[in-house]
Amino acid sequence: MGRETVFIGFGSNVGDRLDFCDRAVTLLSLLPHSQLLGVSLLYETEPVNDHAQPGDGWFLNGVVQIETDITPNSLLTILREIERALGRDEENRSGPRTIDLDILFYGQRIIDEPDLAVPHPRMHQRRFVLMPLNELDPLFLHPSLQRTVSQLLAEAGKQPEVRLLFPQPSTRYGSRPACSQSPGS
Ligand code: AMP
Repeated sequence: MGRETVFIGFGSNVGDRLDFCDRAVTLLSLLPHSQLLGVSLLYETEPVNDHAQPGDGWFLNGVVQIETDITPNSLLTILREIERALGRDEENRSGPRTIDLDILFYGQRIIDEPDLAVPHPRMHQRRFVLMPLNELDPLFLHPSLQRTVSQLLAEAGKQPEVRLLFPQPSTRYGSRPACSQSPGS
């Protein structure tokens, strides 16, 4: 199977959000048979999802672009393991999130399985996903909607509020030394 370009969204709204995002990006940069191609800036998003509870903080969100040989289902398993390793509370999945990881795009593939839908079914409505995606690849085509990321962003509603985190962290997370960059790995 050939390498595919994959975009993974990450978000955290509890505890040391920056550290959770940093750890998640670092782990994603270490995936075998993969290469980290890019990491977006960080965005802050108002928590207005259906299950938001009083006291939930603003989310930190961003997107990672990788190139990988890992199959979509294996990647999903790995993302769940990273979520678990970073302490997501499985008993209260809609509550505060130490880290949430979503497969947004897997190349131009369309996957519709009970536990995996790609492109992520709500991504085209979410500015906290579209803004970082637009930084990384504005012309990437949504395979089922046949619209580019920048078109989807222009069409998305303005709520909830999403703003660039300012200042951005001084250390570029994901830039820790051990990124898997060995050719052919
Ligand atoms: P959530 O609690 O919203 O993070 O949902 C996590 C669950 O959504 C996972 O256990 C997956 O089975 C399912 N899921 C379906 N499509 C995707 C996707 N594209 N990326 C990540 N999880 C997905």
